[in-house]
Amino acid sequence: MSQILEPEQIKAAASSPPFLYLAPANVFALRGARLEKLAEGHALADYLRLIASLCRVQQDLLDHPPADWAPDSQRLALCREHGLPPLAADSLVREIHWQVFLQALLDRYTPPAQVEIHSALLQFRSAGEGQRKAWAISLLSGQYAGVPAALVPFLGAALQAAWSYWLLKLPQAALKPCDNLSQCPACGSPAMAGVIRHRGAFNGLRYLACSLCACEWHVVRVKCVYCEQSKGLKYVSLDDDRVAVEKAPLRAEVCPGCNSYLKQIYLENDADAEPLSADLASLALDMRLDIEGIKRIAPNLMLAPGAD
Ligand code: FE
Ligand code: FE
Repeated sequence: MSQILEPEQIKAAASSPPFLYLAPANVFALRGARLEKLAEGHALADYLRLIASLCRVQQDLLDHPPADWAPDSQRLALCREHGLPPLAADSLVREIHWQVFLQALLDRYTPPAQVEIHSALLQFRSAGEGQRKAWAISLLSGQYAGVPAALVPFLGAALQAAWSYWLLKLPQAALKPCDNLSQCPACGSPAMAGVIRHRGAFNGLRYLACSLCACEWHVVRVKCVYCEQSKGLKYVSLDDDRVAVEKAPLRAEVCPGCNSYLKQIYLENDADAEPLSADLASLALDMRLDIEGIKRIAPNLMLAPGAD
C-alpha cells in the first residue's frame, strides 16, 4: 500500500538514521568462518575453533529449527502494552521454548576429542529441565558463579540460536528503543559491542550488537552507552604500537565518568569484521583494561569471565 508523505515527513525520514541493522540469515555461518580465520596463529586458537564449531551448529539450528514456536500477535501486543521488548529474555528464559534448541544442539553437535568438552556435554545431558533453566537464568543475568564455566559456550550457543531465530520471525515494527541505550530493543539483553558501519545508509553510524539475539540498534557515537556522558571518552586499542589508534579496527571506548568500556569494531578498517568473533579474538585488550581497573559491563555469552 502506498502512502503519500508530507514534505516535512520526507525530510525527517531522510535525516534520521535507520534504527535497526539486522544480521543476515547466515549470521552464524559468517561468524564461524571468521573465527576459523582469526584462529590462525592466535594464542587462543583451540578455543576460537571450538566456538567456530558451535557456530556451525547454530547456523544449522537457524536453517532447520527444531521447533517453530514464535511469539504470537497476542503476546506481542501484551509486551507493547507493558513497554517490554517483544522477546524479553528475563521472562522467555523461564519458559520451555529455548530448551528445545539446547536439546537439538546437544543432539546435532559432534564434539572434538577433548576430555573437558565431553565431560561438559555429559553434565548437560544428565541435567533436567529445571537445572538447565537455572543455569540459563544465571548466564543471562550475568551471575557467572551460578553456571559451570565449561558449560557456558554450549548454553550461550543454544540461547543465541533460539533468540536469533525468533528475531528473524519478528515484525520489525514491533521494535522500539529501550530507556537504556545499552539494552537490546528486541530482547532487553545488554549489548556485547558496538559496530561502526561503513556502507550505504549506515555509513559512519554506530550500532550496538546484542549479546543474545544479534539484533543491532543505532546509538549516536562518542557517547558512553552506560552513563550517557561524552566528556573525556578515550579510545584504546591493542594495536597501539603498530597502528595509530584512529586506524585500529577494534577500539575500546573508555568512559572516565563511570569507569567502564565498550569495544567497538570499525568496519572501515576491517570490512569483514564481525562483533562476537572480534570480541573473543581481542581478549588481550580486556586483560589490559582489567589491570587498569576499568570495568567491562558487556557480556559475551560464549565465555565466562575469568575462565581458563
Ligand atoms: Fe537482543
Ligand atoms: Fe560512562
